[in-house]
Amino acid sequence: MKKIGFIGLGNMGFFMSKNLSLAGFEVNGFDLNKNVFKKLNEFHVNKINSIDEISSQNDIIITMLPNGSSVEEVWISILKNVKPNTLIVDCSTIDIKTSKKMHLIAKNINILSLDAPVSGGTIGAENGSLTFMVGGELEAFNKMLPLFNIMGSKSILCGEAGSGQATKICNNLLLATSMVGLGEAIELANSNKLNMNKFYEVLSTSTSSCWALNNYFPIKGIGPTTPADNDFKPGFSSQLMLKDLSLAIDAAQNDNLKLKLGEIVFQKYKNMIDHNNGSLDFSAIINQLD
Ligand code: NAD
Repeated sequence: MKKIGFIGLGNMGFFMSKNLSLAGFEVNGFDLNKNVFKKLNEFHVNKINSIDEISSQNDIIITMLPNGSSVEEVWISILKNVKPNTLIVDCSTIDIKTSKKMHLIAKNINILSLDAPVSGGTIGAENGSLTFMVGGELEAFNKMLPLFNIMGSKSILCGEAGSGQATKICNNLLLATSMVGLGEAIELANSNKLNMNKFYEVLSTSTSSCWALNNYFPIKGIGPTTPADNDFKPGFSSQLMLKDLSLAIDAAQNDNLKLKLGEIVFQKYKNMIDHNNGSLDFSAIINQLD
C-alpha cells in the first residue's frame, strides 16, 4: 500500500490525514505546530520531524497549508529531496500564480503534481465528504483518485495545472456574492414585515433558490440547521472568505479584469473583519451589510 506524507495538520488536514490513516494507509505527518500530534497519534498518524524525511520516504505527499507563501516554501523543500515517481498534491486554497509555478518546478524534474483545493469545510473534512477541484494531468489525477475518494465524495479534474485553484476562487466569489444578495433580500422582506418561514418556503423553491438560500439560510430557526442557529460559529469563517475573495480579485487583476460586484462584496467582508468579526461564519454578513 502507498505511503502518504501529509504536511499541514490544522483544522482541515487533521481530519483528512485521520481519514486516510483509518482507511489503512501509512500516514506520515509534518506540522510546525507539534501539538497537533497529541490527538493524531491516537489515529496512528506518525509524527515526522522534518520535511526532508517526508519528501524522501513517501509515494504521495499532500499539503494543506494556510497560503501561497507557505505552500511555496514547503514545496521547494519537498522538491529538493523528493524520490522519483512521487506525486505531490496541494489541497490548500492559494493564488493561481503560485500554484502554476509549483507545478512547473515539479514538472521540470519529472515529478507529477496536482492542485486540489476543497469545498466542504471542516465538517466535510471530518465526514470524508469534501469536493476536490483538481488541476493537473490525468495520470496524476487517476493516481490520486483512491485517496480523493476516501477524503471526499466528489473529485473533478477541472483542467490543466492551476485549474483547481481557479475553479475554487470562482466558486467562493459567487458564494460570497449570493450570500450578500440574500442578506439584502432578507432586509427588504423584514422591512415589509413578511413572514420569514413563508419567505423561505417560497424563495427556496423559486427562481432565486441557490445553495446559500436553500442550505445556509442566515436566519435562526428558518430552513435547515446552519451557523445562524449557533451564534454564527463557523462553518466557514469570514476571515477565510475574505482571503478567497482577495485571491479572486488578484487573479482578475492579473488577467486585466475588474470584478465590479466582487470588489463591493470584498469591502463588505473587509468591514466585517475590521470590526473584529472575522471569526464569525461568513453568513453573519447579514448583520454587517451597511
Ligand atoms: P489551519 O491554519 O487550521 O492549518 C494549517 C496548518 O499548517 C497549521 O497546523 C500550521 O501549523 C501548519 N503550517 C503552516 N505553515 C507550515 C509550514 N511551513 N510547514 C508545516 N506546517 C505548516 O488552516 P485550515 O483551516 O486547515 O486550512 C488549510 C487550507 O485549507 C487553507 O488554505 C484554507 O484556505 C483551506 N480551506 C479551509 C477550509 C476551512 O473551513 N477551514 C475550507 C476550505 C478550504
